[in-house]
Amino acid sequence: MARYIFITGGVVSSLGKGLASAALGALLQARGYRVRLRKLDPYLNVDPGTMSPYQHGECFVTDDGAETDLDLGHYERFTGRPANKMDNITTGKIYQTILAKERRGDYLGGTVQVIPHVTDEIKNFVLDGNEDYDFVLVEIGGTVGDIEGLPFFEAIRQLGNELPRGDAVYIHLTLMPFIATAGELKTKPTQHSVKELRSIGIQPDILLVRCDRKIPENERRKLSLFCNVRETAVIPAYDVASIYEVPIAYHREGLDDEVLAAFGITGAPAPNLARWEEISHKVKNPEGEVTIAVVGKYTVLKDAYKSLIEALVHGGIANNVKVNIEWIESEIFEKEDPSPWLENVHGILVPGGFGERGSEGKIAAAGFARTHNIPYFGICFGMQMAVIEAARNLAGIASANSTEFGPAEEPVVGLMTEWLKGNELERRASDSDLGGTMRLGAYPACFAADSKIAEIYGSREISERHRHRYEVNVSYRERLEAAGLRFAGTSPDGLLPETVEIEGHPWFIGVQYHPELKSRPFEPHPLFASFIGAAIDQSRLV
Ligand code: GLN
Repeated sequence: MARYIFITGGVVSSLGKGLASAALGALLQARGYRVRLRKLDPYLNVDPGTMSPYQHGECFVTDDGAETDLDLGHYERFTGRPANKMDNITTGKIYQTILAKERRGDYLGGTVQVIPHVTDEIKNFVLDGNEDYDFVLVEIGGTVGDIEGLPFFEAIRQLGNELPRGDAVYIHLTLMPFIATAGELKTKPTQHSVKELRSIGIQPDILLVRCDRKIPENERRKLSLFCNVRETAVIPAYDVASIYEVPIAYHREGLDDEVLAAFGITGAPAPNLARWEEISHKVKNPEGEVTIAVVGKYTVLKDAYKSLIEALVHGGIANNVKVNIEWIESEIFEKEDPSPWLENVHGILVPGGFGERGSEGKIAAAGFARTHNIPYFGICFGMQMAVIEAARNLAGIASANSTEFGPAEEPVVGLMTEWLKGNELERRASDSDLGGTMRLGAYPACFAADSKIAEIYGSREISERHRHRYEVNVSYRERLEAAGLRFAGTSPDGLLPETVEIEGHPWFIGVQYHPELKSRPFEPHPLFASFIGAAIDQSRLV
């Protein structure tokens, strides 16, 4: 039967709870255990699909088409286990289920309440489908004390009593700030945070303490004493140079030993961390570097491009180089010549995006890459913008545009109204709901035999994750191909363009899907590995 590890956070948000959970999952996995990671998000949205990246960072898409929290991306990258729609739940989703039951009359005239109905629904979710796992790690979003988090904390508190004795362990992640004027590290915020947790009935077994400098022994003792946690279970979580060093750093501080001890597990095999050491070594000892310009809209918020950044790092790992990212707001190219910004970079990437703002700048970036023979990688929106650029400037379709920005005379990119999901036909209209209605999740694509992309994948049939509402209009295929933009990949029925490429260009590929979501440190995505390889060639020219 699965054992449960509940991970909560305190003091401030953005301490890296998701990463901490993922790293602990990786450590347990390195000891041979089967692990599953899940996330409980207390906000009222049903999922983050309709939230702005400024609010929520990247929206991570699973194979089964769920739009989820970006922490699920960390979970996948660290454990290799593909997440699914049951791995992330929000208050909105819990209430959606409860209200549907209430309308059906399932509560048989009873009053529907937070305790027990909401907490029961949360517990059912937490306990469901864990038969194949030794450890289930459940991360609670937000920080202790948030009003909307209360039902989740209450649910995990109840589980502590309902699970067999010793099958639930609570880890609390906090921060020890350094007060420069006093020259001291402070334990008080952690003390308050644990007090808050204990006031709702949860005594943490382990404290994971983020700190930017060494925690002296006496401060560790103080935390142990005031927070009622064993001294050995106060684990420092120091900053490290790369996120792929986190599992090693946590192991060094004894986190996984302490977790197993809290479960009363003795004599477990030591973790095999060889592959983590190899990755860390590679990240720390690159043999060269390349610079990639990422031309996007949310460039001030790096969380909006979490998986993309990691996939570029993985592409670097595959080629033994460090990848420097030059973040560029695409709107700049609507007023300024891109040359000074782009002429010396080794690759240009236009990532996924939504809406008209900055789109002409992205089109300009694609055009610059095409005409200056600089490697270009267009992802989703980045492919659509490259197709518009080629339509206007290669095929002479001057008013080519996307209907995402309003009615277009030449709708080279248009609203997707029908597509096949397995054997079922999905239908959409311009007035459909926005939430959960895009073409979402894994879909197959087929590549032309002699295409560059087939060569890169080493395969002609692939499956990748999608998240888009618009698509390249296949009725322009002939005109665009005649002008040099090849539709190298399509959906199996040939109706939806999936990838484009330009023959004779060193590396110009657009993909309608999101390859960054499936890249892993131990399995860099072939497109990212190949793109960085092309950037290395480019770096020898400039
Ligand atoms: N806005 C575009 C669409 O909906 C692209 C989406 C994306 O880049 N993920 O089709």
